[in-house]
Amino acid sequence: MALRNILLENDPILRKKSREVTKFDEKLWILLDDMYETMIHSDGVGLAAPQVGILRRAIVVDFGDDKYELVNPEIISQKGKQCELEGCLSIPGENGYVERPTFVKIKAQNRYGKDITVIGRDRLAVCFCHEIDHLNGVLYVDKLAEPPKGAHIDEYTRLPQGYTSDKGKKVSV
Ligand SMILES: [Zn+2]
Repeated sequence: MALRNILLENDPILRKKSREVTKFDEKLWILLDDMYETMIHSDGVGLAAPQVGILRRAIVVDFGDDKYELVNPEIISQKGKQCELEGCLSIPGENGYVERPTFVKIKAQNRYGKDITVIGRDRLAVCFCHEIDHLNGVLYVDKLAEPPKGAHIDEYTRLPQGYTSDKGKKVSV
C-alpha cells in the first residue's frame, strides 16, 4: 500500500466526471487499498478516486466500525432532509453546511464486481452523498446552505453567496 497525493480544490481534475469501473483487477484493488490508507492517514472519513487523480467511480468510507468500498455507486432511493457541517480532504481546514437526505439506499459493486446494496442513515448518508458527488465533479462548496439557526460559524466556515448572519451582519465569502 502507498499514500497518494490528495488533489486540492482548485485542481481541474476534481471538476471532471469519473468513468465507470469495468475491470475488477489488481489495479483497482491497489487503488482502493491506497485510497483507504490515504484517507486514514489524513484523518478523513471518506475519499473518492478523483481526489487522488483517478477519474474512476470508486469511493471508500470509514465510519466507526464499518468500512465501505463502493465501486460504481448509485443512489437508488433517498428520504428526509438534514443540514450538517461538512468538510473535505481536498479543502483542508474549512467546512460548510450542506443539505442532504437523512437516508440513502445505494446500489454498487464490491472490489470483485459483485452487486451490493448499502444503506446510509444520518451522518453516513452525508458521507455517501458527499463522496458520490465527487464522482460527478461536484464539491460540497457548490451546494452550500445557510447554517441552521444557532449554528457555530467561524472564519473557517464557508457560507453561501450573499448570506447574512442572524445578527444581521453581512458575512464575506
Ligand atoms: Zn470531499
